[in-house]
Formats: sequence, structure tokens, C-alpha cells
Amino acid sequence: MSELNTLNTDIKKLYGVGKVRAATYAKIGIQTVGDLLAHYPRGYENRGDVRLLKDADTEGKTAVLLTVATEPRVARLKNRMTLVKFRAYDESGICEITYFNQEYLRSIFPVGGEFRFYGKVQRAKNGYTMSSPAYEPYSPDEALAPLFPVYPLTEGLSQKQISKDMRSALIIAAYSDAGEDFLPDDIRSKYSLCVRSFALRNIHSPDSFSSLAAARKRLIFDELFTFALGVSMSGTKSAPAPAVPCKNTDISLLEKLLPYALTGAQRRTVDEIKRDMAKDTAMNRMIVGDVGCGKTVCAAAAIYIAVKNGRQAALMAPTEILATQHYNDLHVLLGKLGVHCELLIGSLTAAQKRAIHARVASGETDVVIGTQALLSAGVELARPGLVVADEQHRFGVNQRAVLAEKNKLSHMLVMSATPIPRSLALAMYGNLDVSRIDEMPPGRQRVDTFAVDEGYRDRLNVFISKQVESGGQVYIVCPAVEEGEDEDADLLMDDIDGEGRVKKSLPLKSAVNYASELADKFPQYHVAFLHGKMKPRDKDGIMKSFAEGYIKVLVSTTVIEVGVNVPEACLMIVENAERFGLSQLHQLRGRVGRGKRKSYCVLVSDAINTEGKAKERLLTMKSCYDGFEIAERDLAMRGPGDFLKGNADETVRQSGGVKFRLAELCDDAGLMRAAFEEAKSLLDRSPDLSEFPGLAAEVNKMFTLEKGTIN
Ligand code: ADP
Ligand code: MG
Repeated sequence: MSELNTLNTDIKKLYGVGKVRAATYAKIGIQTVGDLLAHYPRGYENRGDVRLLKDADTEGKTAVLLTVATEPRVARLKNRMTLVKFRAYDESGICEITYFNQEYLRSIFPVGGEFRFYGKVQRAKNGYTMSSPAYEPYSPDEALAPLFPVYPLTEGLSQKQISKDMRSALIIAAYSDAGEDFLPDDIRSKYSLCVRSFALRNIHSPDSFSSLAAARKRLIFDELFTFALGVSMSGTKSAPAPAVPCKNTDISLLEKLLPYALTGAQRRTVDEIKRDMAKDTAMNRMIVGDVGCGKTVCAAAAIYIAVKNGRQAALMAPTEILATQHYNDLHVLLGKLGVHCELLIGSLTAAQKRAIHARVASGETDVVIGTQALLSAGVELARPGLVVADEQHRFGVNQRAVLAEKNKLSHMLVMSATPIPRSLALAMYGNLDVSRIDEMPPGRQRVDTFAVDEGYRDRLNVFISKQVESGGQVYIVCPAVEEGEDEDADLLMDDIDGEGRVKKSLPLKSAVNYASELADKFPQYHVAFLHGKMKPRDKDGIMKSFAEGYIKVLVSTTVIEVGVNVPEACLMIVENAERFGLSQLHQLRGRVGRGKRKSYCVLVSDAINTEGKAKERLLTMKSCYDGFEIAERDLAMRGPGDFLKGNADETVRQSGGVKFRLAELCDDAGLMRAAFEEAKSLLDRSPDLSEFPGLAAEVNKMFTLEKGTIN
């Protein structure tokens, strides 16, 4: 009947999906046909780019169109292995093709038959060889798909299985939902969006680059629109929550203890907090400001006010190391005012944790500082008054809801180090009041920024060693995790722009290889490597020994903890800087220059030699140091995708706790604005979406807690 019903079909109903496969799918949150269809490819094999054998790409994979020349022969090897072998040719040469352990293939390749093969072509003595290439029979009357999807996998699932199940899912969707679309027609036509069924088919199995672009635009719009609906609904629906008013908001004693005077922006922020907290409705405020602008002291003021008024406060940070840093700062400062702080982290013994829980529950502890674990059931505040969450983009809408639910009567303050443009902040956090700290404390040094190409490598190495020799520490950030990680998809989603054009990308510097290269080059220093696939505990361990100065050079993907303060870090090198958005680069630059050392940021990219947006970004970084200005330019240049991506964690692509599948690729600020405007006006028509059940279902799906994660 309606799309809703069909897409809710249990995945087990798909032909060939049994209990085991269904359980595997469930691990990554796929339970229904609709869930499966929302499992978008992470890239494509560019099989439409058919070349002659002689023009094959010797590094990556190539598509070739060959005619079978010899009857396939089967050879039996040791260990019961079998080998199917035959030759095939095109006008430029002849290629020997082999498959292992697939004896049935001998009957697939008749002499004279034409096939498109896709794989690595290697040169051999008398021609070429290909080992186990993918193959498709070719007929001149029937075009073969130019782009072949490559899916994110999880253990127990192969590309082949997903592709096969996806085909069944697409057939179900196509047959039963023809004409159904949850987006109102007027909105669809106003923004020239294709219908949803076309989009789903073409994201999985694109007819052409332009169909793929149309599909992407529609699906991105859907995500943004659904997100906007959800955010706006949660903003209007919930009446202001009650909270305990904190009438006494005098913080002069705290201010006297500070070794500095508050900046104007900090003062304004503190005033806003005071005003909010004095009310009997819950404060719901976010402080936004560049790294180092001094958000912590504003939070300290809020905490002090809560405690002064007889309440308790909880402060949450995304990692143990950040929680520990906050504890170290705050318990000294607030301790002088008689405020009792405690640190609750995973590395404590069970007995220690129980003791803290007891002191928090009895009200003896005024302030408890920790990670998300503070949300766990054991932590009950006797007199809840304030919850502070640091680095808000790591905490989602959902977690905020849990937080609010658990801490009824509490005021809420979140802090974010990602300066985002005003328009976007309104859209993304419509239900939060925002305080912008757009002024740095006086005397802050500027991190001199340079953009260089590969030609500077030797000089750069000398520079690294010079910094380390004089006691400094170095961050090196690379975009990729491992060499060849994406070997199986030669076109990543990221490589294709909104118009369906393939972006030319420079080869990636591999973080793994680079780390070992540097370790060889500088055996006298500790060089460590950090990446997103490591266990949080291992990451924290490395980050901690870097913060303690033991590790001198830290090579990493972009997972460097956002707020971690390493005062001796004075050099930030970003490899393949063309791969990063302006805001990300600015965030990375903010990791250095946090102590007394003169600090530098070096952006390494051959893109500085080519006119284009990448070069423009690199030049902007050299000339602009204001996070908010950079954010505005980023939005104008790249669209909102970079912000949605969040800057912190590449494995969890989320914003406000909602996982985006494609919207992070959005390079069109206009589309984002449109999605938000349309959401507003649709909600004016139908505030609870009761007239649009399909949309309501989408919103619900997006805003319920994650069912699983993808490796
Ligand atoms: P962030 O906004 O990144 O959380 P912090 O709160 O950690 O920044 O502050 C960074 C540093 O700036 C801290 O060492 C803090 O003591 C210092 N600081 C904060 N406010 C001021 C100020 N008004 N004048 C001078 N230094 C300040
Ligand atoms: Mg901070």
C-alpha cells in the first residue's frame, strides 16, 4: 500500500535473507527494507570508464572490454585449490585471466563472448594478466551500469550480498511504491527535486553521473528537511522546562580569584547566564567560541552560581582526559570558594565510584565532573541545579534529551568550540539560546600559517626536528587512515560533487606509513600514531602521553581531541590540506599556540599550485584568524556539509546526535536554507505533521536513538 508499509517490511522477507544474515544486518541497524535502502554506498567503482588494455591504470583498477579467446581450462593445485584460466583480448593486446576456486566459471566464458572485466591489470611478458576480476557479460544493445556501488561493510557481510539484497529491496520499493513520495509535490517541484523512488534507485545503481547527482540532491534535501522538522518540532513542542531559580548571581568573589579580567564577550556571556539562571524556567544555552576563547570560566561562573544557591552541578566532557583537565582546573579555583568538586571516571575502582555516587546522592559533593558515564543510572544528584556539557557537538539531541529527563529542574549549559555561522546555528540549534564569544583574551599569539607543496618536505622535516629539539611538540594530521583503505571504491562519495562531476583529488599521504617514516627518521624522539579505529582507551592513552610531553610527534587522522590543552605543542602540520574544509583547518590550527611557545601551522598541499577552491581555502587560512569569519566563508564556499560533518570524530558522523548519511556532502548552502524554510512553513500548516504521516515517520526514525554503528 503506502511507502510506509512496504519499507517497513522485515528484512527477513527478502529472498535469500535468513536468520543469520538478518542478525548481521541488525548489528548495523538494518531491520527493514527501508533501513537497507538507506544504507547508501560509500563510493563507486568507475566501471563506465572502459579502457584498452594498453591504457590500463597500473596502480588501481580498470574496466576493460574483452573478447574471450580460449576455452577456459581448469587446473588443480595443491590444497584442493582449483584454477580457471583463459585468455581474452581487445585491439591493444591479450590478457590472461585467472580465477581461484570457482570451477563453475568455466562455462560462463564461451570463446567469442564479450565481457566487461573490472580489476587490476598487470603487465606480463606477452601481454597482460588479471586475477579474479569482476565480470559482466557485454552486449552492444544493453548498456552496462557505469557506476558500481561499494557499500560500508560489517563483519559477516560482503559487497556481493549487500548488492544482491539491495536489488531485491529496490524491486520491492519500485513495484509497490510507484508514485508514493513523502515530500509534498509543491516543495519537490519548487526545488527541482527528483522523486524519491528515482533517488533511491539511482543512489544505489546510478544510470549516469547526472542521475547520481539528482539522486544525491534529493536524498540530501530529505535529510536536511527531516532534520529541520525534528529540530523545529522539538523546539516548539516542549514548553519551557521548570527549573530551580538561582537568585543570588553575584560572582565577584570568583572574579577576584582569577588572575585576569574577563573579556567583554565573556562578561556578556556570564550576564546572559545569570539572567537565565535566575528564572524558574530552565536555561537552555550554548556558548560558542573558538578554542582558547575562555569558555571554561563562564561555565565555572554558572557552576558557582548553582552551588551558591544550594544546588549541585554536573559537568560532562566527551573524554576522560578532557574531564580530568576540567577537574584539575575547577577543583582548585572553586575549592577556594568552598565548593567541593569530584571527578568520576571509568578508571576509578568500583569502590571509589560507589563512594562518589554516595557523596553525590547525599549532597555532600557540590560538583561532579566526568564523561557521559555521568548519565548512567548510578549518578543521582540530591539537589540538581545545573548540567554543563563541554564540546557540545559530541553530545546529541538525544543525549541532551536524556540529560534533561534525568535532571529535571536543572539548568543546561553546553559549550562548543566550533564557531558556526549565525544562520546555521539558528537552523541547527533553533531550540537553544546562543552566546557567542567572539573575542580572544588579550595577548593571545597568532599561529603563523603557511601553505607549502611537497617540494618543501625536506625543509619541513628540518623544521620538525628544530621544534622538538627546543622542547616543542608537533602534531601531524593526515586525512586517510591506512594506505589503500578505499582501494575497492575508486570514486568515493566525497569525490563526486553536487553536479555529479568527479573532483580530481591528489594522492593521499598515508598516516600509517608517514608515522613509521618519521619514526625511522627521528629515532631519538617518540613518534606516535593515532587513528579513529583505535579503542577509546588506547586513544586516550596516547593523547595523555602526548599531553604529558612524553610523545613528541603525534601523527594522526583528524581524531585529535578537541579541547585537549597541550601547551608545548607549537607546530601543526596538515597533510593533504586540500581535503579539509576551512572550519576543520581552523579547528586543527587551534590545537597549537596554547602555551607560551611561538607556534606555526603548515598546510601541505600541491593544490596551492592550481587555481581553484582548494587554493582559495589555503590562502584564506593564511590571512584569516577569526573563527566566526572563517565559518561564514566556509559556509559560502563549501555549503553546510562541513559543519554537519562535525569536526571531531570521523567515525561517528553526526550532528546533534543525529546521524547524517549524505547531508554532510551538501555543498549548497541554498539547499540547506531552503530545507529549513520549508520545514518552518510546513509546520505552520501542520504543526504535528498529522497531515504528513510519511514525513512524521521519517522524523521519528531520525530522532530515535541509534540502533547500531557502522565500522
Ligand atoms: P576554551 O574556550 O577553549 O575552553 P579555556 O576556557 O580553556 O578555553 O581557556 C583557555 C585559556 O585562557 C585558559 O588558560 C584560561 O585560563 C585563559 N583565559 C580565559 N579567559 C581569559 C581572560 N579573560 N584573560 C586571560 N586569559 C584567559
Ligand atoms: Mg574548553
